[in-house]
Amino acid sequence: MSPFNLETCCRPNILALEPYRCARDDYKDDGTNILLDANENAYGPPITTSSSPSLGGPEINLLTLHRYPDPHQSPLKSLLCSLRNTHSHTSKTLSPSNLFVGVGSDEAIDALLRAFCRPGLDSILVCPPTYGMYSVSAQVNDVSLVKIPLTPAPVFGLDIPTILSTLSDTTKNIKLAYFCSPGNPTGSLLSKEDLRQVLEHPTWNGVVVLDEAYIDFAPDDASLAEWVLEWPNLVVMQTLSKAFGLAGIRLGAAFTSEPIARVLNSLKAPYNVNNLTSAIAEYALSQDGLAKMRENKAKLVEQRERLIQELPKINGVGRLRGGTASNFLLYEMLNGEGKPDNKVALAVYERLAETKGVVVRFRGKEYGCEGCLRITVGTEEEVTRLLTALEKTLVEVRG
Ligand SMILES: *Cc1c(COP(=O)(O)O)cnc(C)c1O
Repeated sequence: MSPFNLETCCRPNILALEPYRCARDDYKDDGTNILLDANENAYGPPITTSSSPSLGGPEINLLTLHRYPDPHQSPLKSLLCSLRNTHSHTSKTLSPSNLFVGVGSDEAIDALLRAFCRPGLDSILVCPPTYGMYSVSAQVNDVSLVKIPLTPAPVFGLDIPTILSTLSDTTKNIKLAYFCSPGNPTGSLLSKEDLRQVLEHPTWNGVVVLDEAYIDFAPDDASLAEWVLEWPNLVVMQTLSKAFGLAGIRLGAAFTSEPIARVLNSLKAPYNVNNLTSAIAEYALSQDGLAKMRENKAKLVEQRERLIQELPKINGVGRLRGGTASNFLLYEMLNGEGKPDNKVALAVYERLAETKGVVVRFRGKEYGCEGCLRITVGTEEEVTRLLTALEKTLVEVRG
């Protein structure tokens, strides 16, 4: 078992916070009380139509937007728990007290840093190539980075011996280890056994943060959210921005042990998740919403398979780097000698956007990604356009 101890790992000023309580925690809004407790506008918002036109969509009453949101979001949390209580990884059952919800995963990434890392003293471990927000958020909080690159070919994975020995070094003050599975930009799922070894580190007093932003593109039941019931030092972050297609509402979730969830919920701004976001999120997690999400996911998976079939047939496209568990693929662009080449990849990236109106992402500067473009899987028509444009562009660039 991990020697994790929240009392000594968490910053003392954060540990001392109490969860926010409002008058409505004591006196519920049952429709009979008049609510004169929160300085809201009794005459309501400056809107005359009562609800969004909804034919089989979420019911949103715009005329109640003068009310502050629910700081606890229990109905939304219950739906998130139902989605992840698959009992594939434990017999225990997640409940809303295992959850933090916020403005995208980005809020959870930052909240964890503020909860555990003392500015100017502590650090976090990250494994490049990885998501950029961990380091941005660390810099904002004056927290330093310890980088242990992923092992490259054949598939990106964790360098477990180096990670374990680095976490043993108490002079580094590593409080959090951010892992991404499926990885961005790698698209690879991390091995469950590898993660277990980090969680069971014999001496490290810190928290494993597993970013599962793309988990719904991976095979069923791949999410390790349930593992937060088995380990006290695990946070699993998810988001509605990717498979659920709701990047615009900004809703992220962090599953974790009850004590860590209490810390995150005490630290957050009380009304971080707004009424429109929670209404749409609850609809997305309803039976109807989940069915539609799975329908869209199946279409994207079909187009992902098509790209995997078709891209290697194009002259100048090299190896697929990393995995296929996401809604994007990382491919090498080759020079005349058949080598992955950043000059070629950058030229292709620019020409694709400027002359063909197709925008992908250049990732060649990332560790282990020489010559790579990250291509998001689009609709059938978008994939057709990408394939044609990429073939032409590679001829233009490589001659
Ligand atoms: C897109 C992405 C997120 C999503 O962040 P939100 O703030 O929830 O939109 C989180 N982690 C990774 C690795 C991502 O690629």
